[in-house]
Amino acid sequence: MSVPLLGQMMDAPLLLSALLTHAKDYHGDTEVVSRTVEGGIHRYTYADAAQRSRQLANALKRIGVGMGDRVGTLAWNGYRHFELYYAVSGSGAVMHTVNPRLFPEQVAWIINDAEDSVLCFDLTFAPLVEAIAPKCPTVKHWVAMTDRAHMPAIKLPNLLCYEDWVEAESDEYEWPQFDEKAACTLCYTSGTTGNPKGVLYSHRSMMIHTMSGAVPDVFNLSARDCVLPVVPMFHVNAWAVPYAAPMVGAKLVFPGAALDGASLHELFESEGVTFSAGVPTVWQGLLQHLQANKLKVSTLKRCVIGGSACPPALMKTFEQDYGVKIHHAWGMTEMSPLGTFNQLKNKHLKLSAEQQFAIETKQGRPPFGVQLKIVDADGRSLPRDGHAFGDLLVKGYWIVDRYFKGDKSPLQDGWFPTGDVGTLDSDGYLQITDRSKDVIKSGGEWISSIDLENVACAHPGVAQAAVIGVHHPKWDERPLLVVVKKPGEEVDRDALLAIFPDRVAKWWIPDDVVFVSELPMTATGKISKLRLREQLKDHRLPGV
Ligand code: ADP
Repeated sequence: MSVPLLGQMMDAPLLLSALLTHAKDYHGDTEVVSRTVEGGIHRYTYADAAQRSRQLANALKRIGVGMGDRVGTLAWNGYRHFELYYAVSGSGAVMHTVNPRLFPEQVAWIINDAEDSVLCFDLTFAPLVEAIAPKCPTVKHWVAMTDRAHMPAIKLPNLLCYEDWVEAESDEYEWPQFDEKAACTLCYTSGTTGNPKGVLYSHRSMMIHTMSGAVPDVFNLSARDCVLPVVPMFHVNAWAVPYAAPMVGAKLVFPGAALDGASLHELFESEGVTFSAGVPTVWQGLLQHLQANKLKVSTLKRCVIGGSACPPALMKTFEQDYGVKIHHAWGMTEMSPLGTFNQLKNKHLKLSAEQQFAIETKQGRPPFGVQLKIVDADGRSLPRDGHAFGDLLVKGYWIVDRYFKGDKSPLQDGWFPTGDVGTLDSDGYLQITDRSKDVIKSGGEWISSIDLENVACAHPGVAQAAVIGVHHPKWDERPLLVVVKKPGEEVDRDALLAIFPDRVAKWWIPDDVVFVSELPMTATGKISKLRLREQLKDHRLPGV
């Protein structure tokens, strides 16, 4: 067998600690600002964050956290959570962000599955922690992420106060060098069916993901940006923003627990935020606040919206009324999460605004590092013509190979089946038709719930819309439109259904409309179609 001639370049493992060290060395005075759970604003720099992360690494070592041990968190986006991101992964342990919005039994199940040895929590979650602690035998230390003055009055064995624990340590600490394939973080999928599944990222996969995610055709991040991740640090690592911001030296702003429109707007304006990221429901909340109070945004220029389909009407309003460019993105926990990102290409720049918008409403195209394909029911590849739709499979540097503790591979011939259905065009722009379990099967044909929701959201009286399939004796399933009205707006069933005939095929038009005061949400802030189907399973369509 022939042997390649090896390159003669320095060989250093791709480890996440290097990101913070870079930020300390070259962006040491750049600010990291947090709205705290205790109340008020905390402000320090990357140099301070790096110093405290080194102290924290010593503190972890002192309580016996070693290589590969899992350290769990139940926390909002804030500076202490940021320090944990680096101290835990940087010291060779595994950062495990638990979604606190899950039911307590699920939180306990996930902590047990991960076998977390330490669990750090924000004050908000003190009651949750107190309730689940007896069911979490692997946790040796519970750490309240606060100072002595704010320690919660709860009874827990081995309860530590974060500030005392960290401040007692020296900041003399050398980030260890180890195999870049070592695990850095662990996130669980939401487990809408069955138990949640753990995805164990490696330093190498996360580093490549971060570098590919910051480039101009993706997040387009730089040292001139001020970045506010609304997406929680417990939702797929806040889409890698806590890694990408120090890598480029961007100012970082953490919103804490206050994710309502008013609190976000205040922080955007006071800190001069230029770039933000979150799921559609967050931006709908912000938009309602801006509209109701006749406010403007003065520094925000770009937002990435993903996690579920972004209604085109929302994109248009932000761009036209507020001058904020919305970039649609698609991904999933199993993809770290970046799958596709929407930016135009050079050849699109001469198209009309309308033609450009038609491209921009799609979920985007893959960055280098991700490959996509769509297949039919027999696994045969479908053409990239923008029309044929099929099951979406992915492959790449930062995509799951095996679930944590999983005994069999989820892959099909080396490709990961996403559970999403979509189209791809010749440039690789992906349009998600639906999650395969949400697509409406009517008379043997498929109807995209996302397309129907997008039409409904264009109606000025609609705040939120969801379409689900409900049982129909003849067609098997028919679409039912469920709507939350905008406050103070009047809209009725017939007026709403009247906007569909010009926009979709006749047989796609929903059979009925239900008005509700709110839609059920998942733990990651997405509309829960599963619970909505449950709630409306007895709904009788007209004429049935
Ligand atoms: P969960 O939503 O189950 O907590 P993820 O955050 O990993 O877990 O969700 C990934 C799924 O979210 C994708 O498989 C896809 O169905 C959906 N999704 C993500 N982004 C988009 C998007 N831009 N448009 C439509 N669906 C999306």
